[in-house]
Amino acid sequence: MTARLLDGRALADAIRMSVAERVEQLRAWRPGPSLVFVLIGESPPARVYAGRLEKLGGRAGIEVRRVQLPADVSSDAFEGLIADLNDDDAVDGVLVQMPLPEHLQHSGLSDLLSYRKDVDGITVLNAGHLYLGVPGHYPPTAVAMMELLRESGVAPAGRTAVVVGRSNVVGHPVAEMLLHAHATVTVTHRHTPALAEFTRTADILMVGAGEPHLITADMVKPGAVVIDAGINVTETGVVGDVDAAAVDARAGALTPVPGGVGPVTNAILLRHVTDSAEATLE
Ligand code: NAD
Repeated sequence: MTARLLDGRALADAIRMSVAERVEQLRAWRPGPSLVFVLIGESPPARVYAGRLEKLGGRAGIEVRRVQLPADVSSDAFEGLIADLNDDDAVDGVLVQMPLPEHLQHSGLSDLLSYRKDVDGITVLNAGHLYLGVPGHYPPTAVAMMELLRESGVAPAGRTAVVVGRSNVVGHPVAEMLLHAHATVTVTHRHTPALAEFTRTADILMVGAGEPHLITADMVKPGAVVIDAGINVTETGVVGDVDAAAVDARAGALTPVPGGVGPVTNAILLRHVTDSAEATLE
């Protein structure tokens, strides 16, 4: 048996096509959606990410604009910029490069940024929306993982789901979403002893740990759906947190890395910007 491949690139294409159609309709009423990406200091990965979003956004009719801040920007200047972006009607979404530098970590960004423009789901209000299961911007990676699960055709209701990792952008939000979808959810993390004993119980295994090939074949229940958010740059290239070559013979469905959760995450972010733009018409 080999696992069904859950093709993130194809799903991302379909999501962006639907976004482009919505943007087209929106333009009858107002200018196209716009996203501001706030970059702080020099970060080559952030620059690459911004370039990719500009390209993908541009194709869907979404303007992506960079605002570059110096690495030593003061808290006051940073907070002032966020306040200005909140007030700017020409801005539908704001994305801030993470992690914030140490001296901005207590800047109150998660309280300050308008939840409507928080397309990355980092604010306290959107975390509350997620917790309560009411509409809001949830972290795009977690949304992408749920969309790929839907592609597998396996409904979470009544099933056992195990999440590996509990960060605020991957593991924790996806666990909340699985709970709202009526799965029985176990969250594991770095301090979980005997990880395999938990992962082997999973009909649905969601992984976001940042450890190359942490999940080996013997840790997977036969037939399970395995969604791998991990992106690890190794000497042999980019690999996930799941040993895909080995797990392929055991899982029922599996996301590849690259080409799985990553591209869907970018598409979901653009969808969130479009949601925000549409909300201005209400
Ligand atoms: P993080 O370091 O903030 O969190 C990692 C989590 O995994 C922690 O909760 C930690 O306790 C847990 N963990 C680490 N090692 C573990 C182990 N051996 N056993 C069990 N749990 C373990 O990382 P993050 O930001 O959540 O990212 C996780 C992975 O997802 C990374 O590879 C990152 O590159 C990737 N990521 C992908 C996307 C995407 O769009 N596809 C987005 C964000 C992060």
